[in-house]
Amino acid sequence: MFYRDAEHVLRLRAFEQFSWLIHGFGTRWSPSFGSCRNLATVRQIHSDRCVDAGGRAGVLAEGDALMGNSPGILLGVKTADCIPLLLVDERLRAVAAVHAGWRGTAQQIGAKAIRFLSARYGTQPQDLHAAIGPAIGKCCFEVGPEVASLFGQPANGKVKLDLTEALRRQLLDSGIPAGRIYASGLCTMCGGSEFESYRRDGAAAGRMLSVVGVVERSA
Ligand SMILES: [Zn+2]
Repeated sequence: MFYRDAEHVLRLRAFEQFSWLIHGFGTRWSPSFGSCRNLATVRQIHSDRCVDAGGRAGVLAEGDALMGNSPGILLGVKTADCIPLLLVDERLRAVAAVHAGWRGTAQQIGAKAIRFLSARYGTQPQDLHAAIGPAIGKCCFEVGPEVASLFGQPANGKVKLDLTEALRRQLLDSGIPAGRIYASGLCTMCGGSEFESYRRDGAAAGRMLSVVGVVERSA
């Protein structure tokens, strides 16, 4: 489903059917991936705030979900354990890049991003495809009872949380067909040195850039 290209960027085969789409999940080994003039990002604050790029590039605002449909503008989010989520409306050619950690996921950022796309671009959830990139897996994501309870997982001590599954359910509940939700299943913490992991490396961890956008000259 996902594969690594020659530049160590993870790509989703299902997205390659769209000739008008650019996408990819950068790794530690693709440091220059996506760093071009026409990159739009947000100052990520672990919120549920959605931002419309509206054809602009640069650091646009505080928020954790970035939407757009302008050819030539790449939307990017940076992660190291949190989930990078890319949404693609195949009918209207609108896209979104979402940074979903446990705080954002608990605040329903997946569902809110879809509602925002609907409000701004007229997206219907059944036209969306969703790619969930490498993030900390259930294997490694130990949380305390206060975080677990936010995900309906009552606990006395530490428990393992499946953040990707929580986000996947949010997307399903929002109306994206199950067959159009693709998860890499790769864990940033134990999946190898190709990934940046904040939990593993602390302050030494870099960030991986994931991008989505519409090609400059649409086919
Ligand atoms: Zn793991």
